[in-house]
Amino acid sequence: MNRPAPQAVQVAVPVPLPGLFDYLAPESGRLPAPGSRVLVPFGRRRLVGLVMGQGAPTTDGALKRIERVLDDQLVGRDLLELIEWCARYYGFVPGEAVNLLLPGALRRTRPFRVPPPRFLALTAAGSEADLKRAPRQAEIRQWLESGVLSRSDLLARGASTTALTRMLDAGLIESIPTPPPSPARPGPELNEEQRRAVASILRQRHGFSALLLAGVTGSGKTEVYLHVARRLLDRGRQVIILIPEIGLTPQLVRRIEARLGRPAFTYHSGLSEGERLATWQAARQGHADVIVGTRSAVFLPLLRPGLIVVDEEHDGSFKQQDGARYHGRDVAVLRARRLGIPIVLGSATPSLESLNNTEAGRYRLLELTRRAGQARQPHWRVIDQRGQSGYLAPQLQTTIARHLDSGGQVLLYRNRRGYAPVLMCNACGWQADCQRCSAHMTWHRQDERLQCHHCGSSARRPLRCPECGDPQLAELGVGTERLEELLSERFAPVPVHRVDRDSMSGKEDFEKLLETVRGGKPCILVGTQMLAKGHHLPGVTLAAVLDVDQALFSADFRAPERLGQAVCQVAGRAGRGQQAGEFLLLTRHPEHPLLAELVKGRYLPYARTLLEERRAAALPPATSLALLCAQAHQPEPARRFLAECARKLTTPGIEISGPMPAIMSRRGGYWRFQLWLQAERRANLAHLLSASVPALYDLPLARKVRWHVDMDPAEL
Ligand code: ADP
Ligand code: ZN
Ligand code: ZN
Repeated sequence: MNRPAPQAVQVAVPVPLPGLFDYLAPESGRLPAPGSRVLVPFGRRRLVGLVMGQGAPTTDGALKRIERVLDDQLVGRDLLELIEWCARYYGFVPGEAVNLLLPGALRRTRPFRVPPPRFLALTAAGSEADLKRAPRQAEIRQWLESGVLSRSDLLARGASTTALTRMLDAGLIESIPTPPPSPARPGPELNEEQRRAVASILRQRHGFSALLLAGVTGSGKTEVYLHVARRLLDRGRQVIILIPEIGLTPQLVRRIEARLGRPAFTYHSGLSEGERLATWQAARQGHADVIVGTRSAVFLPLLRPGLIVVDEEHDGSFKQQDGARYHGRDVAVLRARRLGIPIVLGSATPSLESLNNTEAGRYRLLELTRRAGQARQPHWRVIDQRGQSGYLAPQLQTTIARHLDSGGQVLLYRNRRGYAPVLMCNACGWQADCQRCSAHMTWHRQDERLQCHHCGSSARRPLRCPECGDPQLAELGVGTERLEELLSERFAPVPVHRVDRDSMSGKEDFEKLLETVRGGKPCILVGTQMLAKGHHLPGVTLAAVLDVDQALFSADFRAPERLGQAVCQVAGRAGRGQQAGEFLLLTRHPEHPLLAELVKGRYLPYARTLLEERRAAALPPATSLALLCAQAHQPEPARRFLAECARKLTTPGIEISGPMPAIMSRRGGYWRFQLWLQAERRANLAHLLSASVPALYDLPLARKVRWHVDMDPAEL
């Protein structure tokens, strides 16, 4: 007798192994369709997996059965195909699909708490109910009589969660996914450049198109997004806005809600599992019209997609640095293409990748060359620090004083936290280095600890030099903590606010500080990266970058690009209000050719020069680059593993260099090496990787060293 062979399905299981796993249909029932969420036995565990595809008939008697189908066809075909493409292109294991496509709550085998409703409305029963003996519920009813309110709004007015739950259970109030649009506030009238940008984007709304909106800081890019978004929302489309950092969400959400008259849903790691699930479901069911999220939001399911915006598209945080090393911006472009919708990449300082794509005709370039409204670009000045001692240059001090005296605020950028970057013995030259990294430890005076900023380890400060016993240890250089001290002494009683990870423990701290600063009283802000990003502080009239020199001589070919971006972004904080702005750049190498170009104050010409240099050196984005990275507690196994890989990977059209040490050759106790794989065409490289990386798992050393592929790496 010939019985038909049982069918299997291929399931992505969240484990760090290459390939999908075959499973048979559950005991009772059919084979689930692709996109279904399933519970499967795996080794001794049970895991939540995603059905990726139908397998062939199988006679493999050892195959296990799916234990249970949790959700039938939860994830759409478009996302399954997108993730398969990503796994191949970025060389991550298919199991990552589960982590990227499902919010945490849906990855757990145990039941999860359903998130509380976000918006509440009165039901007919609720309007009529006799609540004489429930005064607290009567009060809630009164509030809701004027219309839908958010749960947080009700709690803020003094409603208790118990009363709300009682009323929900009794059917007096109901949860509704999203309130009806409220009247939207008109924004400023767009200027000519903005209008042209909006029109260009809207012309593309019926199909895929990638547009790079290169608008100088404060030129009104966000206004452009909002205008386009409104038109698409009116046509019933969903809009998703990707931003680099959680810190920028509250500001943008407030603006969207006021201007578009609809709630903006958020999706990022700062939310609880329940909140993430709520947004995920609202996006999938089409209740969420506007979604603001970080990198991972690029994988949200959408019912009626209309537009993707990637704000600050140049920002490094769009690239994931561990696990599935995808680039959120690039995946967003691919997704828009597959969905057949436009995507807008916005930045005052576009990445060389995107600029290159405009020159190659793949993206369309839209420029906003002037600041919107009355504000002007700040005036730039270079301060030559050669031959000066002391940590606050005299010209810097006088300029700060001048701005404070005329009622301005000052913003100083120094990308180094802590008090002093080096602790050194004056007698013998010993320096406090990290035991686990090739790096100095930074002296943090407030904590009284030496800290490594690369692996997080910390140590007590030695009383004497461990080498020669000399008691004199010198604190060299200046971090934000020391700057705060110096500035406080010099400019007392003007308040000095430090903004870095040590001083700001949560986003509330930062929000509160920004509120204070927006109050407008003269003050000095000193801080790291956190300060350079997208904040609108109209009282700031002077901005300065205190250290450009390191980046001028970095071994990382992307350093000049990042330098230009940081400098232009910091400069862009000055003069956004009524008062004219000024920008200072401090250097000991004023004659450096990069600076000569940069100080002209225009980013695009500077970036085009860099792009020419990259082309001449056959570096990305002129060529495509992937790194094969390996690390181990001893240098030799890591290096040898990569040498073996190099032998396996040889293919015409692909140039392999290395193994060579990473720029930071040791980190967190691991010796780090890399192999550079370069090809003129991205497709060649991606093809080689997807075809040959699975075989690397079989190399003898593959289990002894930690390794991964990094396609389009952001760090070397
Ligand atoms: P960007 O996103 O380019 O930094 P924003 O859209 O945040 O710029 O705009 C910067 C400031 O200028 C905001 O305060 C905004 O309200 C204002 N603005 C934008 N467009 C206009 C305009 N056309 N007329 C007047 N003010 C504008
Ligand atoms: Zn010494
Ligand atoms: Zn370290």
